[in-house]
Formats: sequence, structure tokens, C-alpha cells
Amino acid sequence: MAVNNNKLLLLTFAICRLIVTVGLTVVPELLDVGLDGRLSVDKRELEAASVDFGRLSRGAPSEVVHPATAEDVARVVKAAFESGFPVSARGQGHSINGQALITEKKGVVIQMGKGGGGGSGVKVCDKGMYVDVWGGELWIEVLSATLEYGLAPMSWTDYLYLSVGGTLSNAGISGQTFNHGPQITNIYELDVVTGKGELVTCSEHRNSELFHAVLGGLGQFGIITRARIALEPAPHRVRWIRVLYSNFGRFCKDQEYLISLHGKAGRERFDYVEGFVIVDEGLINNWRSSFFSASNPVKITSLNADGGVLYCLEITKNYDQENADSVDEEIQALLKKLDFIPTSVFTTDLPYVDFLDRVHKAELKLRSKGLWDVPHPWLNLFVPRSRIGDFDKGVFKGILGNKTSGPILIYPMNKSNGNAKKGKNKKHSYSYVIAVERHRDTGGLYFSQHRKWKSSSKPARK
Ligand SMILES: Cc1cc2nc3c(=O)[nH]c(=O)nc-3n(C[C@H](O)[C@H](O)[C@H](O)COP(=O)(O)OP(=O)(O)OC[C@H]3O[C@@H](n4cnc5c(N)ncnc54)[C@H](O)[C@@H]3O)c2cc1C
Repeated sequence: MAVNNNKLLLLTFAICRLIVTVGLTVVPELLDVGLDGRLSVDKRELEAASVDFGRLSRGAPSEVVHPATAEDVARVVKAAFESGFPVSARGQGHSINGQALITEKKGVVIQMGKGGGGGSGVKVCDKGMYVDVWGGELWIEVLSATLEYGLAPMSWTDYLYLSVGGTLSNAGISGQTFNHGPQITNIYELDVVTGKGELVTCSEHRNSELFHAVLGGLGQFGIITRARIALEPAPHRVRWIRVLYSNFGRFCKDQEYLISLHGKAGRERFDYVEGFVIVDEGLINNWRSSFFSASNPVKITSLNADGGVLYCLEITKNYDQENADSVDEEIQALLKKLDFIPTSVFTTDLPYVDFLDRVHKAELKLRSKGLWDVPHPWLNLFVPRSRIGDFDKGVFKGILGNKTSGPILIYPMNKSNGNAKKGKNKKHSYSYVIAVERHRDTGGLYFSQHRKWKSSSKPARK
């Protein structure tokens, strides 16, 4: 009894202290929900949860909750539902426009964090070819854990320091999407905390409405606490190739041809198809997609760019020891069908994990120069194929005026490629992903990835 009284006293003291520390802004209903994790009003943690990668908006949460379990998430959301205070799930805060921020003074950020849900947060089932992952886990951790079994997810984003819940709330697209669909089409099952604070398991066949609403639902239909992600045998190495075009029509035609090969046997297609626009030679070594070094034998200005703009097709071929002998032949056969500038083939070869983790290397360099935590007014668009030519004329060759401050990605996507694996994508209907990744002007400081690219000529056409 005395022990219980002491506990009560301590709890009352802690609550009073919390209220004193934060004044009257604290959400009182949260103080007695009984968390296994942590409730924080620490200034630094509140500040960290008040900004995102875009740095265009500011939040003002009154608390940050670090849940230890899915039940913790459910407790907080239930209290929010019953009392009417706002909550927002936050993964890594790599959104651009404040999607994971709380702008009200009395509102709570649920910082999903790594390794929640008890234990490691990543549990591989090699027999079932899937991995169960805590919603706040980073994709890089998912990759490391699955590679121990020689397995890996199939569909990626270009950058792996994003949370599983964060990318599944969007779509998760990249150069593999044409073949495997976006990340959200590679999910077998989810545990979701609904807006009422109920913890519900859902899949294609069980609570399917919730399943489809949450995937790509921008965090508005529930909080993902667990995702079951499909796996495949992980390739060992990657041949990474870039070729240049000065003609936009040819560039698009080749990209569309390459993604139309989805569903073909691995040897008859590339594994990844992306591309980017080079509007300004001075910016050719942008932080994300650079590969031309000072010693590069190709003089970009000599390539007779159409309207001063060049387009770079970026493709990869995965391979293992078993097909290492035939990979060159397969690549040459595919390259022969393309119409890029002869003499503009650049190739490098690296382990699969290094290819997937490529953007992180650039991040580390930018961080070391204080150039990562700067405003990022990025613009991500889907442009219909019917208007992509106008977009090129109006934007790449028009309003950008040979100036930009970051990479501009462009690659087509089968509109219905969520169904690509199910063979429903018979008609090719494309739209283009355009990502204009500007950041605050860094005074012309851009980084090359210091990778050695071998330049070679286009293989002769038959
Ligand atoms: C350098 C960089 C490269 C990128 N490359 C790509 C790319 O190649 N392809 C691509 O598709 N995207 C890309 N993105 C965008 C990225 O996928 C999204 O911004 C993603 O939301 C970031 O994940 P996050 O964990 O930081 O999410 P946050 O910014 O923390 O949250 C994003 C949204 O998801 C919600 N949310 C977070 N966790 C959960 C959860 N567990 N359950 C439910 N909702 C949740 C939030 O409330 C918010 O609405 C890139 C971003 C950066 C910064």
C-alpha cells in the first residue's frame, strides 16, 4: 500500500512537472493514457518535429510521442478521437509541404521512429518470401535485414532513409516501378490504427477498403504500424548505364519502349529505367545525378544539344554470378534498339546495395557542407504523355531559361502499373513523373558522386 502511495505521489509529481515545464499547452488527456513508450515536451524534440525536409512550413506541436508498440499508437489516437486534439504520424519528416506537421498549439506528433513495435522492427520470413516491418522503420534497415537471407523488396524509392509508413502513405515510386509497380502494390498486409484508435489488420481480402485507403492515403486514413512486404531473391551486382539524347522525342520514345518491356524475362529488359534533364552544363554535376568528371572525354557542349537541353536516360541491369557471363551481351542487345547520341554510353558496376543506397552518399557530402538542412521547394508532378512535348518546350526549354538549382528527374510510368504483375496492363497508357528538385541556392556548389564512369561508344546497329 505504501509502495502504491509512493508511486501515485511520483506520478503526480511527474505530471505537475510536465505541466509546469510546458505551461498550459499540454494535451491533458495524454497524461494518463499509460504509454509503454515516451511522451516528450523537450524543446529540441518539439523543434525537430516542427520542420520537415522542405522547410517551407512550420509546425507547433505541444507534444511528441515516441510509441514503443502499436498499442501505444492506438492509445494516443483514441484519446485524440475522444477529446478532439489533432495528431499526425511522422516517419522521417522528409515531406516537402508540411504533410507530417501539426500546426495547432495543442496537437501531438507521433514520431514513429526506428525499431518500434518491440524488438528489431524487421522480421524476415524467408519461407514465406515476405518481411514484417514496423511502420517507422527505415527502408535501408529493411534492406540490410532481408539481405542477410539473400532477399530484398522489389520496388524502391531513390533514397532509402525514408520510413516504410511514410513512403507507403504516398506510393513509393522509382525506376523499378514500371516492372514491379509502386511500393504500395508490393504489400500483402498492414496493421493500421484507425481514426478511432482501433488496431485493425487489413489486406486485399480482409478489411480491403481500409487497406486500399491507407496505401497512398497521405496518413489521412490511419497509421500504419506494420507492413508485410513482398520479397524476391536479391541480385548481387548492378550494371548502371547512362546515355545522352539531344532530341526529346527520341528520348521519350526510348524510355517508353524500355518500360513497355515490363513482364518480359529478366534478360530481355532492364531492371530500372529513369532519366533526367540537363538544362545547364554548369549544373551537370548536380548532387543527385552527377557522373561527368573533369577528365570525362565527352565535351557536353560538343553534343549539339537541341535548344541547349540534354536528356540522360539512366538504366540498370541486375546480375548474379550465374549470369555474369551473359550480362554484357544482354545489355548490348537492348542498347542496340535505342537511339541515343553515339559515343555517350557511360557505364559503372557496383554491388546491388550500393546502387540502391546511392543518394545517401550524396546526402553525406551535402551534410558535411551544411547544405542538406536547407529549404527544398521541390515540385513533383505527373504529366500526361499527350502533353509531355509541350512541357519540354514550355518548361525545360522555356521558363527554366538554362537555370536550375538541382536535379530534374523525368521518366514515364504505365498508368495502370499497379496491375502490371497481374497482366491487366495490356494497353500502354503512360504518364511522366517529373521531379524538379530545387534547393536554396548554394552558390554553384554541386557534388559529383566521384564514381568512375567508363565512357564507350554506342554498339553498332545491325
Ligand atoms: C532525398 C529524397 C528522395 C526521395 N526520393 C523519392 C523517390 O524516389 N520516390 C518517392 O516515391 N518518393 C521519394 N521521396 C519522397 C518521400 O517518399 C516522401 O516524402 C515520404 O513521405 C517520406 O517519408 P518519411 O518517412 O520522411 O515521411 P514523413 O514526411 O514523415 O510523412 C509523410 C506523410 O506520411 C504520413 N505518415 C508517416 N508515417 C506514417 C505511418 N506510419 N502511417 C501512416 N501515415 C504515415 C505523414 O503523416 C505524412 O502525411 C524522396 C524524398 C527525399 C527527401
